[in-house]
Amino acid sequence: MTKRVAIIGAGPSGLAQLRAFQSAFDQGAEPVDLVCFEKQSDWGGQWNYTWRTGLDANGEPVHSSMYRYLWSNGPKECLEFADYSFEEHFGKPIASYPPRAVLWDYIKGRVEKAGVRRFIRFNCPVRHVEYRESDGTFLVTVHDHDRDVVESEVFDHVVVASGHFSTPNVPEFEGFDTFNGRILHAHDFRDALEFQGKSVLLVGSSYSAEDIGSQCYKYGVRSITSCYRTRPMGFDWPENWEEKPLLQRVDGNTAYFADGSSKQVDAIILCTGYLHHFPFLPEPLRLQTNNRLWPLGLYRGVVWEANPKLFYLGMQDQWYTFNMFDAQAWYVRDVILGRIALPDRDAMAADSRAWREREEALEDDEAMIRFQGDYVAGLIEATDYPSFDIEGVNQTFLEWEKDKHEGIMTFRDKSYRSLMTGTQAPPHHTRWLDAMDDSLEAFLNAPEAPRSARAKATAAETSED
Ligand code: FAD
Ligand code: NAP
Repeated sequence: MTKRVAIIGAGPSGLAQLRAFQSAFDQGAEPVDLVCFEKQSDWGGQWNYTWRTGLDANGEPVHSSMYRYLWSNGPKECLEFADYSFEEHFGKPIASYPPRAVLWDYIKGRVEKAGVRRFIRFNCPVRHVEYRESDGTFLVTVHDHDRDVVESEVFDHVVVASGHFSTPNVPEFEGFDTFNGRILHAHDFRDALEFQGKSVLLVGSSYSAEDIGSQCYKYGVRSITSCYRTRPMGFDWPENWEEKPLLQRVDGNTAYFADGSSKQVDAIILCTGYLHHFPFLPEPLRLQTNNRLWPLGLYRGVVWEANPKLFYLGMQDQWYTFNMFDAQAWYVRDVILGRIALPDRDAMAADSRAWREREEALEDDEAMIRFQGDYVAGLIEATDYPSFDIEGVNQTFLEWEKDKHEGIMTFRDKSYRSLMTGTQAPPHHTRWLDAMDDSLEAFLNAPEAPRSARAKATAAETSED
């Protein structure tokens, strides 16, 4: 009988799963009945920007945490698909740090080419997944908002690809309830222009704090204060950005920090990360973890050891992204197709523990990058996903880190060589700090060179003659 596979989410991970199956079907693999349930009305996951915050048009929690003017925070060369290059998609080499709309277009291009949209049911949040010991199947209950019905279907496998940067982790600090300004989590940040001319306090010291602060700087904030719990970001910040130890309390508009200093602020943005949140999964199936490189319970980072008919994609903290999701999806596909045999539960758990021990000993960013690179390489070796130069990707990440430390407001002006095609990316036509328009058109097309005053005068003289 044809196997039925439910995929939850049509973000980069869920789409990688669809693409992996399509690639096998193209090569004559046995058919599998695929259904991808997507809560949003379109695909792309986080990359599908919405102006909405809070609830969406169907009353579901808004998924995307992305905001206007978001540009890739790492080189595109590190996330490039091995089976679909940027050059193939855009028909020419493009710069290394594309804005969101360009990456969304790239993600869509591959799956449009593969023709997998027909497997996706949009506006369909999964409400519940139940495993039935009696016949070894899953009952998946979904709210189809287009028809406004809640219904259940039976599947042999479930792939959870619902992301983990959507449900905000929101700590409270003393005095928040009487603060005289806006307090929001990064998940609800949409447009830096809202904070133009204001003094903004950022809580947290990771990518959201770094990037939201940089956006606010770019779009004209008066001052930025960021504060850390564990360690400062330590970049060479512009003159109106200072970094302090953790916020202790606020009183009116005054924020007090752990070093005894204080500052007047107009708004507070909590860049305090996200929770792995699976309200549709019962306890025996639910992954519980913080944001880290090796969550426990997942053999090869994807197989739910307690029930290896269930899989998770993309649940790790991420240096590698799109091509790691691909490596995971190809591996999961091959387990489902019976091409990869799994060891018993104890052996899977022992393998995971060994990775966790290695993860716990990682001392710096370079070690973490190499750890995730090794993980991706191991998955690729097990499948027919096109192999690529993982060490080259690691090196590009290291160059990126160096570039960030040399100039946190200029690193996006650098370009790197594709590890898939060997092509060196051209520099972008405009430096990032001056590129205010983040549309696909503005990114891909160089603005007309401004004509010099002399050229204009000559043209005027000519037309007068
Ligand atoms: P997601 O993209 O989160 O997609 C999950 C999908 O599952 C969504 O479409 C969602 O609607 C759907 N879903 C959730 N729950 C349900 C349900 N119950 N039923 C049905 N569908 C459901 N990565 C980079 O490589 N470069 C970057 O520059 C970068 N910038 C980022 C900026 C921000 C602000 C954030 C939050 C993340 C960024 N990332 C970046 C990381 C990003 O998470 C990954 O690139 C990628 O989107 C992860 O893909 P995913 O499919 O695993 O998850
Ligand atoms: P994150 O990397 O998980 O970092 C969470 C931060 O919050 C850490 O600094 C953590 O501090 C801090 N924190 C958590 N709880 C806290 C508390 N109670 N008090 C004080 N600080 C607290 O989350 P993120 O920065 O939101 O990044 C998530 C993902 O989004 C990443 O994959 C990133 O690449 C992506 N992203 C990309 C862009 C882009 O430019 N394209 C922009 C934003 C985000 P500790 O260190 O002390 O734990």
